[in-house]
Amino acid sequence: MTTAAVLELRGVSKAYGSLLAVDGVDLRVERGERRALIGPNGAGKTTLFDLVGGRSRVSGGRILLDGADVTTMEEHRRARRGIAKTFQHSNLFDGLSVLDNVAIAVQHHAGVARRVLRPAARETAVTDRADGLLATVGLGDVAGATAGALSHGERRQLEVAIALATEPQLLLFDEPVAGMSPAESRAFVGLVAELPAALTVLLIEHDMDVVFAVASRISVLHAGRMLAEGTPEEVRASAGVQEAYLGGGSGEELFRAP
Ligand code: ATP
Repeated sequence: MTTAAVLELRGVSKAYGSLLAVDGVDLRVERGERRALIGPNGAGKTTLFDLVGGRSRVSGGRILLDGADVTTMEEHRRARRGIAKTFQHSNLFDGLSVLDNVAIAVQHHAGVARRVLRPAARETAVTDRADGLLATVGLGDVAGATAGALSHGERRQLEVAIALATEPQLLLFDEPVAGMSPAESRAFVGLVAELPAALTVLLIEHDMDVVFAVASRISVLHAGRMLAEGTPEEVRASAGVQEAYLGGGSGEELFRAP
């Protein structure tokens, strides 16, 4: 018996009027994968992410999360089942400390469990967990700073800690390094490498240096269809992929060596 993939798309389509933004896409992402979704502008990447996260509904096909059909499930219920998204909108409390931002997320997620703990034990457990998450994303040293004082890259690291507080099984990154400095991008690559091995990551990213540094597999979307899938080496060597990018005018610089 094959085990269920963390995420599986079967013939997923999304139509906007007569435009098929996503056109019969099959995708299988296994536990612990670092999967990148790439493709020229307008390929359908964001549309596909929104279908997975539940922000919009498919026009056809099915979406399975850990073997369960979530195709028609509301966005917040998918989140509870383990899909976390970052970088769509910044939802930080700028006036609160970095630690408190994470502690609130931990506490919110703990929900029922925390009610059975005595208040003091509860507070310690929440703070310990928040501290641990900040260490995971490399913000241990600035736990006491206010979130509003963080750099752009640090804010994104904090958003990852908040996403991790929900104990997701699938983490969706939408253009994580957009607007980051080269140093911040490198820090992000290091952060992904340090994430728990069982966590599954799906990211959309235009920066191919980051894609090749982070991804264990790459899926290439073109005009709504899955053009290719493979290891970074296979995708880099694919003539079809190069042609799609070059034909789309997105530039051969996408395939420069990392
Ligand atoms: P980019 O890399 O530029 O972000 P993308 O690969 O994420 O592009 P999408 O944003 O998913 O591509 O868009 C795919 C196609 O669907 C495009 O032709 C876009 O114009 C169209 N599209 C996206 N959202 C809508 C919408 N709400 N209504 C109509 N058309 C849409």
